[in-house]
Amino acid sequence: MSDIADITLKEITSHAKEYGFIFPSSEIYDGLGAVYDYGQNGVQLKNNLREYWWKAMVRLNENIVGIDAAIFMHPTTWKASGHVDAFNDPLIDNKDSKKRYRADNLIEDHIAKIEGKIEKELTKAAKRFGESFDRDMYLETNPRVKGYRDKIDAINQKMKVSMDSGDLGGLKEIIEEEKIADPISGSRNWTDVRQFNLMFKTEMGSLAEGANDIYLRPETAQGIFVNYLNVQKTGRMKIPFGIAQVGKAFRNEIIARQFIFRMREFEQMEMQFFVKPGEEMEWYHHWKEKRIQWHNALGLGHDNYRFHDHLNMAHYANAACDIEFQFPMGFKELEGIHSRTDFDLKAHEEHSGKKLQYFDNQEDRSYVPYVVETSIGLDRLFLAVLSSCYKNETLEDGSSRAVLKIPPAMAPIKIAVLPLVAKDGLPEKARKILEELRFDFECTYEEKDSIGKRYRRQDAIGTPFSVTVDHQTLEDNTVTVRDRDTMEQIRISTEELSEVVGKKVSINTLLHQLS
Ligand code: ATP
Repeated sequence: MSDIADITLKEITSHAKEYGFIFPSSEIYDGLGAVYDYGQNGVQLKNNLREYWWKAMVRLNENIVGIDAAIFMHPTTWKASGHVDAFNDPLIDNKDSKKRYRADNLIEDHIAKIEGKIEKELTKAAKRFGESFDRDMYLETNPRVKGYRDKIDAINQKMKVSMDSGDLGGLKEIIEEEKIADPISGSRNWTDVRQFNLMFKTEMGSLAEGANDIYLRPETAQGIFVNYLNVQKTGRMKIPFGIAQVGKAFRNEIIARQFIFRMREFEQMEMQFFVKPGEEMEWYHHWKEKRIQWHNALGLGHDNYRFHDHLNMAHYANAACDIEFQFPMGFKELEGIHSRTDFDLKAHEEHSGKKLQYFDNQEDRSYVPYVVETSIGLDRLFLAVLSSCYKNETLEDGSSRAVLKIPPAMAPIKIAVLPLVAKDGLPEKARKILEELRFDFECTYEEKDSIGKRYRRQDAIGTPFSVTVDHQTLEDNTVTVRDRDTMEQIRISTEELSEVVGKKVSINTLLHQLS
């Protein structure tokens, strides 16, 4: 069995393309950097993931409602949010390889390498000391490990100061002092670090009318902030309450070499939770717990997640963490949870001149609510599913199969209906069964190739159940149901099909775990 660490992004990318999940955008023109299209199976999986998030947020929480704001927003929105002035990444080029990097990412990867060295020391020591090994004590006292930790702290501290003050020279200094090399070429011949704004700009209206510069939104959150009072008033919402939204966001990312992990056009699922000032930390912890519970219920494996608390917080946040997932390239951010204070609403008050306050009946006073946000990338979640569910298995008979063990409720197709052979009235019978099932489930029908080959194809797209119609079906109306993961088959009557399969593929199996 293969696990995530052994599976490369390359394998996932080619499997996703071969089986109709993801294609490079406008591929006939050689594609467009970091832009991708979802194919016939990809769109189904993506819809299911979106539905799981939406229902968990909007349906299961009485005090959360959804909206769908426009992608284009008044340009002052982005002035108020700070994106015009500060949505920058520090960019650096390697003069030899001509490759471009984010300076902060190069430094973070360097830190991860030092962390790797600490882990190695720990593993060695654990072996040496056996049962009596005290990990915490070793971390505290071993001089070599302590040296590594001090080094990490010093780099983190210097990076924070440089990032906060916009001191690009400081970042370059770290890269030089730490002798950080281009991961591709090994060269240390770097340009200076420059700022690069990530927003895509376009024009609205004709030039003759005096067109305005506007931006493609770089996050969905601002659509929620500017509508917060509309929703609060028309929905008679009482604090605490949340507004959820799913939609496209656009960032002109500097480096985009990691398939759908970092895209220039992507989809976010965000929820802003409006709370009484002073209660934000309580809600921050509440949402941290709720969100990890949601991830765990999805069934990708608890060990694939970890929290990463932010030391370098954005200026507007008073607490922030990431939920990281073990992707093929290591643990990386999947979701962000941020306590954003009243920064955004206050900024919109100032720039719009409109009051965005909430009148609290119980307290008999008005205030600008504080906000706790949960923000997850749908495409990154998609990659988390693909990379943790893709297995290359060697079977007992020595043959192998590629299988996507996608949680059944999320699978693009739930049931494949397959006549054993394409004659003797089996296709007609199979189609009859299909006609019934398709009202309840996403189904497919296949009659070409041997049954073994058809099973393999369904395994590769992650179909949890294959229903085979054979000669016995014509006599007693029973079919075999093959389970994708165990490959075991049971024989049941066609009348039982909906119920037996339905229980296993229903999204409610996931949602029930959340209450
Ligand atoms: P990163 O540090 O990886 O650039 P971020 O901290 O800028 O991410 P946020 O602004 O917090 O990300 O966005 C929230 C979520 O949106 C992220 O956790 C991620 O899942 C998703 N996301 C952000 N940028 C991208 C992107 N370029 N492509 C795909 N998903 C993205």
